[in-house]
Amino acid sequence: MEKSALIIVDAQRGFMPLEEGRRVWPNLSDDERQKPNYGWGELPVPDGGEIINPVNRLVAASIQFGHLIATTQDWHPSNTAHFSDKPDYQTTWPRHCVAGWSGAELHPNLALPASSERFVKGTEELKPGQEDTSYSGYNAFAPNIVIGFGNKRLTLPYFLEQRDVRKVIIGGLALDYCVGQTALDFRQKADMDVTVISDATRPVASETGEAMLEQFREAGISYTDSETWIREQSKLDIQQQNSDNARYEITDILSDSLTPRGIGQWLQAHNRLLGQTPAEALADGRDEEVQAAAQAFVDGSYI
Ligand SMILES: [Zn+2]
Repeated sequence: MEKSALIIVDAQRGFMPLEEGRRVWPNLSDDERQKPNYGWGELPVPDGGEIINPVNRLVAASIQFGHLIATTQDWHPSNTAHFSDKPDYQTTWPRHCVAGWSGAELHPNLALPASSERFVKGTEELKPGQEDTSYSGYNAFAPNIVIGFGNKRLTLPYFLEQRDVRKVIIGGLALDYCVGQTALDFRQKADMDVTVISDATRPVASETGEAMLEQFREAGISYTDSETWIREQSKLDIQQQNSDNARYEITDILSDSLTPRGIGQWLQAHNRLLGQTPAEALADGRDEEVQAAAQAFVDGSYI
């Protein structure tokens, strides 16, 4: 069965405003906040901390629905042309999310299950003057570059493909850069069903955020809030459970006997419980035993 995955992009201390650090750690002294290991506010996205509660609700719902959960982290070398003391905020940025430093840590209030997978990106050094259009620091999709922690050397798209994931739900920072690029690539390069959650992301600037939403519309990417998404998923979940129950009932009837009467009952059950005609039941190849019985009935070979 096709699966879904929740991807939380770069919800890291370094992308959160300084005030978010104050809110999370109210008792820290100003001296402590001056130390380089403070980590908050390196490259802050306005109101970045506001995403944490919606993201946690998405995580809880995803656990309930059996979706996979993956996080990504910007994970840069300390020396790279990705950084500059005089950043242009187009291709160069203030130093942020250096591998192993505090700014690269995930927000401490993220409530992740042990089963969630962590991926890092932007790990390669960018040379001065190097074209950075394919640079993985901007995108969790980039092949062969997004690498799981440990020695797995596994890209996020490959990881998801191996697990039959065809739908991704994306939140994190920032909408107009990493979240947006990741969503576009999953839609356009992997042909996946992509939903970005509006209250689980924030843009660096409203104009570039609006421009990204326009690209989402053109690409057929859904953009909806966490409450709506969770409500829709709950409906799907209940439909799935009803359908599973109907299947169990049908299998019960079948296991009784494959006599004409049994098959007649089975066809009626298909109509009643799944709204399927015999032809549709045949086309639905998910249950081989059911299909074989339907074929026997249609062929008249059950006698
Ligand atoms: Zn970066």
